[in-house]
Amino acid sequence: MSDAARLNALDQEFAWHPFTQQQGWSEEEPLMIERGEGVYLFDVDGNRYIDGTSSLWCNVHGHHHPELDRAARAQLDKVAHSTMLGLSHPGATELAARLIEIAPAGLRRVFYSDSGSTAAEIALKMAFQYHQQRGDSARTRFVRLREAYHGDTIGSVSVGGIDLFHATYRPLLFETLAAEPGDADHMEQLLSAHEGEVAAVIMEPLVQGAGGMIIHPDGYLRAVRELCDAHGVLLICDEVATGFGRTGTMFAVEREGVSPDFLCLAKGITGGYLPLAATLTTEAVYEAFLGAPAEARTFFHGHTYTGNPVACAVALANLDIFARERTVERLAPKIELIEARLAEIAEVPGVKEVRSRGVMVGIDLGEHDPELRVGHRVTLAARERGALVRPLGDVVVLMPPLSIGAAELGELLDITAESITAALASLPAGQPAT
Ligand SMILES: *Cc1c(COP(=O)(O)O)cnc(C)c1O
Repeated sequence: MSDAARLNALDQEFAWHPFTQQQGWSEEEPLMIERGEGVYLFDVDGNRYIDGTSSLWCNVHGHHHPELDRAARAQLDKVAHSTMLGLSHPGATELAARLIEIAPAGLRRVFYSDSGSTAAEIALKMAFQYHQQRGDSARTRFVRLREAYHGDTIGSVSVGGIDLFHATYRPLLFETLAAEPGDADHMEQLLSAHEGEVAAVIMEPLVQGAGGMIIHPDGYLRAVRELCDAHGVLLICDEVATGFGRTGTMFAVEREGVSPDFLCLAKGITGGYLPLAATLTTEAVYEAFLGAPAEARTFFHGHTYTGNPVACAVALANLDIFARERTVERLAPKIELIEARLAEIAEVPGVKEVRSRGVMVGIDLGEHDPELRVGHRVTLAARERGALVRPLGDVVVLMPPLSIGAAELGELLDITAESITAALASLPAGQPAT
């Protein structure tokens, strides 16, 4: 038995993959990724693929990056893990200062965790406790957007709005108020109808990623910020997907000159290397938690690996590369290329709509019978052609590493267009999109 076959057999027998119907999984040959180099990933048989979705929207400067590797190794020569509960360490301290330096004005405190889900949960709990401790105890509700995605833990699912993922768990979730994405009037109605009851609005600024790359109209974020201020409501911006350059600025909120009360960061924070997350907040929120220990105003929350030293060391190197290579500034021509090519892809028969903001792209193939798995067919066709893409239903998502070169980007877009055509041609006859 070849090593690939042996590993595949072990995977089929023992592993359970996230967001994956295992029944279909075991009918297909799984792809085993063994190594990476720049924007490419290689499987155990040595086949090369462009990482078209940055290994789930995380990778920034490419795989196997010498500087990021060096940062991780150097930290391993010191200590792999200590704790942030009652102790500190140089990496977490430096990184907190660096994050505040690049974050929108007004954000002054950094609370670490390990995933986007926990970054969102922490913001929710802090917002709730903030109002409680200021004596505003009626502010217990949260407004979220329809089709929102903030992670998979129970609290983050409570503020989620994707029925396919979230509806099963409704009985376990706290109730929320659902706002129509992009509709500031609806937000105003909700906040007015629930005056004094709302702790915070939580939203993904500019682009709702997992909801299918839903792009908000210009000015919406700014309007929500102003409405929150007018109604005494805190604003949580979840930039787990949009942060670290994806929309063409370091953070999406910069586009509308908005400073949220909470900024949730994860995915790109370590350049896509290691699990690390941060919830940034203001000094006003922080101060509401101060008091004598016996007053129990403490924020009672903390994950074991919070602020892990190796992850923090890599996150610092990630920021060094951003600064030195001017990664965000140099995105402009890549974004132009994406937009020009997307205009062509929009004309491919079977493409209903293309949506993009920066290097976040959704190519919507319209509504098909879910059993046809049109998005998945595109994934398989792209794989044969040397690119890894992962759809959201029948929306083909592209989100390559920011470091992708023009030639590689062109190749990724070519493969995507060809794969869409191939996938649609593979459908049983008489299955048009509705
Ligand atoms: C991916 C994502 C999350 C969840 O992050 P995890 O690290 O997977 O828990 C939260 N919010 C947004 C906007 C995301 O895209």
